[in-house]
Amino acid sequence: MSKSLRRLAIGLSAVLLAGASVTAFTFNIAGIKWPGGSALLYIGMPGSSSSGTSWRDALARAAAQWTSQTPFEFIVNQGYRNPCSGYGATPSGGQFNSGNGDGQNGIDFSATVCGDAYGANTLAVTLIYTESNLLGGFDIVESDIVFNANTRFDIYDGPLVDQSRGIDFGRVALHEMGHVIGMSHEQGSASIMRSTIGNLFTLQPDDIEGATTLYTGYANCPVAAIDFGRVAGGLSEGDCSVKQLVGGGSDDSLVDTYEFTLAQPTSITIGMSSASLDSVLVLMDANSRVLDVDDDGGVGCDAKITKTLAAGTYAVLANTFVDGSACGDTVGSYQLTMSYQSNILLERGQETSLLGSTSSAKFAGGVRARNKLSYSNVVKPSEFFDIEGRIAIDPKHQGQAGFIVVAGILADGQILLRNSAGEFNAYNGQGDISKAKTLVLSALERVDILRDTRASDLGLNDIEVNFLIGYGVNSNPNELYFHGAPINLVVTP
Ligand SMILES: [Zn+2]
Repeated sequence: MSKSLRRLAIGLSAVLLAGASVTAFTFNIAGIKWPGGSALLYIGMPGSSSSGTSWRDALARAAAQWTSQTPFEFIVNQGYRNPCSGYGATPSGGQFNSGNGDGQNGIDFSATVCGDAYGANTLAVTLIYTESNLLGGFDIVESDIVFNANTRFDIYDGPLVDQSRGIDFGRVALHEMGHVIGMSHEQGSASIMRSTIGNLFTLQPDDIEGATTLYTGYANCPVAAIDFGRVAGGLSEGDCSVKQLVGGGSDDSLVDTYEFTLAQPTSITIGMSSASLDSVLVLMDANSRVLDVDDDGGVGCDAKITKTLAAGTYAVLANTFVDGSACGDTVGSYQLTMSYQSNILLERGQETSLLGSTSSAKFAGGVRARNKLSYSNVVKPSEFFDIEGRIAIDPKHQGQAGFIVVAGILADGQILLRNSAGEFNAYNGQGDISKAKTLVLSALERVDILRDTRASDLGLNDIEVNFLIGYGVNSNPNELYFHGAPINLVVTP
């Protein structure tokens, strides 16, 4: 992440010139985009072309090409909005106008760029208003299109005919809508986003690839799964950069991307610590919308985010501030810790089984420190705590004689199994799996994984254990039904 000033600005882009075509390849995007990947476009400009098609129909067709062929979605409204509303004149020599827009994306003909002059041979101009975002870049918050009213337009597919008939409005609209979503000119390649108009009148592979990169968000980079607990990571040369992740811009700081899914609303805390990096955490939703960014919310240069999130999939980006100050290395190792607080036991889904049978069993679990009402996964060495598990038994297994198994997996991969006396013993993968309990299975089985435990009494000060609970039926004793997402315990001072 690089630091930037907050500003509200307007970019004038989208000069579409009549001219000769040349060839090349690769898309060009500026890295600014609409948060969430969609925009509401007012296409109700009045009138029709001389061949009879209304301008609004041509706009609808152009918007539909972007929506159907790229991850970006134009939400089309048949109403009219003045594209010049809220536009302020550009100061002489200035790059940006002085207006703040009106927050609505309008389209119309205009004899001037809302009062400023068109450049020579300019067919249309897209006005882009941006706002700085949490990532240090810019989000598009409004975009309007003005078509040069001094140009003779018609609407037709196919080759660009001689200009006595008029320029095809549809392909100009298609090009300008590319600017609306944040794409820049593609110099030379066979694309609609080329700066000169030509015989192309539909989106080309280069246009689609560019918009896809811009709106695929964090999936542009390798994504690792993360769950509650600790992850050791490192930023090194060759990792993805923020520039690659967002599909443009100039931030080439390195970033690791992690993804997690919550089965229910949960309050989470994510910490990133490092001896050498100035840690930065970014939390995104599944649409790559930035929900929170933290630089120094932890101790020293460490970062920390606490947020209550709805059920869903989210991404955590491990990043750094590149400003040369204390702990200012750009490559180095770090540790992420994911913890939660919840008033209910968290579902620990992804039902699975040893031999591949399927079941509808549901598993939940959590750690609760003595005198605390909520569950978490993190306790201090001096705290007494319980670890509770709960299994909703598959109806087809209810009423059968069966058994419960409890396993703890240490950071080095060692597996411990609980016996019926409540003791955990190492299991080497051979022989019978010891049972924590034998019973007749009811609809809901509560499992005491640990009770009234204190890490300091065991000589443990800093340890992570992932627990799994499972059950089986005596009529099929080698099969075990359990869950993929473990019940995590982190003991840390
Ligand atoms: Zn353009």
